[in-house]
Amino acid sequence: MRWLERLRKNDPKVADLVTKELQRQEFGLEMIPSENYASLAVMEAMGTVLTNKYSEGYPERRYYGGNEFIDMVEQLAIDRAKEVFGVPHANVQPYSGTPANQAVYVATCNLGDTILGHSLPDGGHLTHGWKTSFSGMFYKSMQYHVKPDGYLDLDEVKRLARDERPKLIWIGASAYARELPFEEFAAVADEVGAYLAADIAHVAGLVVGGAHKHPAPYVHIVTTTTHKTLRGPRGAMIMVTEKGLKKDPELGNKIDKAVFPGLQGGPHDHTTAAIAVALGEALKPEFKEYAHQIVKNARALAEELMKNGVKIVSNGTDNHLMLIDLTPFGKGKGVFVQDALDASGITVNKNTIPAEPSSPFYPSGVRLGTPAITTRGMKEKEMKSIARWIVDIIGEVKSNELPEDRVKRNEVLEKFKQGLSSNRTVKRVRSEVVQLCKRFPLYPELFK
Ligand SMILES: *Cc1c(COP(=O)(O)O)cnc(C)c1O
Repeated sequence: MRWLERLRKNDPKVADLVTKELQRQEFGLEMIPSENYASLAVMEAMGTVLTNKYSEGYPERRYYGGNEFIDMVEQLAIDRAKEVFGVPHANVQPYSGTPANQAVYVATCNLGDTILGHSLPDGGHLTHGWKTSFSGMFYKSMQYHVKPDGYLDLDEVKRLARDERPKLIWIGASAYARELPFEEFAAVADEVGAYLAADIAHVAGLVVGGAHKHPAPYVHIVTTTTHKTLRGPRGAMIMVTEKGLKKDPELGNKIDKAVFPGLQGGPHDHTTAAIAVALGEALKPEFKEYAHQIVKNARALAEELMKNGVKIVSNGTDNHLMLIDLTPFGKGKGVFVQDALDASGITVNKNTIPAEPSSPFYPSGVRLGTPAITTRGMKEKEMKSIARWIVDIIGEVKSNELPEDRVKRNEVLEKFKQGLSSNRTVKRVRSEVVQLCKRFPLYPELFK
């Protein structure tokens, strides 16, 4: 392998670990819905001399010299973001999704103001007001939920908004399989005069590719990570819509000031370059196909799972992900299914389900999605095979019980994990997964 030639000489330990991670990605099925595979072009842009530069401020308004080309890189990323999302203002500097959302609070609220967001165990995100996050610590956080059928409880949203008069309302989720009702939220936010922010970290690629409703006509602010369905580097963007500027002509400036100097120092210019590359990819027609295929694949996977008796929250999906509800087999089973799938080369994550009967650390569901395997080129036919493997693995481990007692629980889980390497079903699925991965090579250039 010629890849990492210099690193191999310079620091063989790190090179070895990076190579192992490449092999894990190449020969496994990545089904965590927040993950994806960036193109080599995106990664090449990241690994450049742009990492050497300090450029606090914004294009043409910097606190350091030597930013002639950096300005052009950032302006290109901004212009492409505006074009791709159809918005008048974009900030591409947030280090990641959490700092981006933090900047929205700083721009729109004072400490202690009331905000309204989607509860974390119901599929929301930490930054939408959960108690252990800054958003729940520094603001008065009201939380809405999903109904037992898995859909957002819009009546609760209305009631909380009318009673509590939040300054900021969030719409957007990390584990919600249905289309986000931007229009319905806009009616509520407009009625109570709140800022409405859409956090489309998960579905940004679907939005851009036309496979999910666009938030821009309905909300004031859009935040997104750039590394999930958007398939760029690890980073984030904050955009202000026409509607946002109409509500508050200063909103763009407030967002920019909140990011820098409010919360961050120098931007990561190498990441900004890679964001520009990813946005360039999103402008190509192939990206639309990819976005629609993600949804087709998720639907095919959910259907095949349900056909085989697996319960899916809300009985299906509109987007890239689904939640398997394992409560028919008992509570807290997510960890067994996650670990057994992991040993089989299928990476998913244990997740809470609506009205979770267990705990967030030992939840009763599993979250999985299709963005990364769609990037590899897999289609409906492959989803059927994957669904059958998942069904086999669930069948294999569903009778394992999680003890209430902490010490016993750790013993049981440790023993369970050790047993996986010699489990016949796990071994068979593992070898079939490798065969499938070889038919859909991920980074063939890196193995030359
Ligand atoms: C992933 C995610 C984020 C946070 O992104 P990080 O880059 O992990 O900080 C924010 N909001 C939602 C809805 C997400 O899914």
